[in-house]
Amino acid sequence: MQTDVVIIGAGPVGLACAIEVQRSGLSCVTVDKGALVNSLTGYPTNMEFFSTPDLIEIGGHPLVSSRYKPIREEAIDYYRRVAENEELELLLYERVSDLSGEFGRFELVTDKRTIHCAAVVVATGFFDQPNMLNVPGEDLPKVTHYFREAFTYTGRDVCIIGAKNSAALAALQCHRRGARVTMVIRGPEVGPTVKYWIRPDLVNRIAEGSIKAHFSAQVTHIHEDRLEVNTPDGPIEIKNDVVLALTGYHPDYTFLNHLGVAIEDDETDTPSFDADTHETNREGVFIAGTVCGGRHTSRWFIENGRHHAALIATELSRRLEPLSESV
Ligand SMILES: Cc1cc2nc3c(=O)[nH]c(=O)nc-3n(C[C@H](O)[C@H](O)[C@H](O)COP(=O)(O)OP(=O)(O)OC[C@H]3O[C@@H](n4cnc5c(N)ncnc54)[C@H](O)[C@@H]3O)c2cc1C
Repeated sequence: MQTDVVIIGAGPVGLACAIEVQRSGLSCVTVDKGALVNSLTGYPTNMEFFSTPDLIEIGGHPLVSSRYKPIREEAIDYYRRVAENEELELLLYERVSDLSGEFGRFELVTDKRTIHCAAVVVATGFFDQPNMLNVPGEDLPKVTHYFREAFTYTGRDVCIIGAKNSAALAALQCHRRGARVTMVIRGPEVGPTVKYWIRPDLVNRIAEGSIKAHFSAQVTHIHEDRLEVNTPDGPIEIKNDVVLALTGYHPDYTFLNHLGVAIEDDETDTPSFDADTHETNREGVFIAGTVCGGRHTSRWFIENGRHHAALIATELSRRLEPLSESV
């Protein structure tokens, strides 16, 4: 298979890149190891976006929502229709594993084929790689790093680890669906960056005691029926059926390494790239979307990450047109 550009990752930003690259006159294939907008399919089923519809639109296609802020299902269907209308060439359920060659003559290997291309855009996000607690018992089936649905926890002792947006929302929803919720929070308070319409609700539920919270605390051991927790007052044990470890995610550094993308020596392990063009240290390999922030996963999101697409497409059409003409 041959194309000018391969986009790795069919998330919102990968799709935005595919649209802009295609509009610049270059051919483009988008490869994803899962479904279209695979990360969004794994979000809580009743999730409402933080952004208003206009801020997560791509390619200038209007996202019509029945509400002030779109829900997960509306967004997924929107991106599906955009991909269809733009006639994007998609290879889904196909994992990219290797990249050899150089700018203008890359060989990109998936688990199904080899694609010959001139340039590559990496838009692989971070949602597949949870930050692990690294404590005994984390591999028990009752532990998950993804919250989908509160109803399954009715009547159960649920421990939520973390205190950012995902943890705060999960705690509130589980509490309102009849779970007994205890939060174990590493810091001294509910995350200050939790959205302003969610934070007071959680803080008040903790203050009235309907959601329990241990601050400056860490789970040290997960057992079938209980947790060991270190608190400022000493170690305690908590009765427990389910652990939602919502402690964030990080990019797949093994994969980035494999692609030859260097990681900056900074505290957020940011991939190395030129801020004007989004080209990485490896010539012809560009990077877009949330993966650009490294471990600082709230640096880029759809709202601002979608604008990487135009920067990359402009640079690619400037650099690739002369290459095609010279062939
Ligand atoms: C609960 C939640 C709510 C959010 N709400 C908002 C919001 O309201 N507004 C906003 O702007 N942002 C929001 N975000 C952030 C943003 O939606 C997501 O981070 C968004 O999905 C990022 O888009 P992306 O295209 O950069 O990456 P992703 O959507 O994560 O896409 C990456 C894709 O790459 C694929 N992939 C990874 N590795 C490979 C490989 N080796 N080969 C092939 N494919 C691969 C993955 O399967 C995935 O489909 C939210 C995030 C979460 C978790």
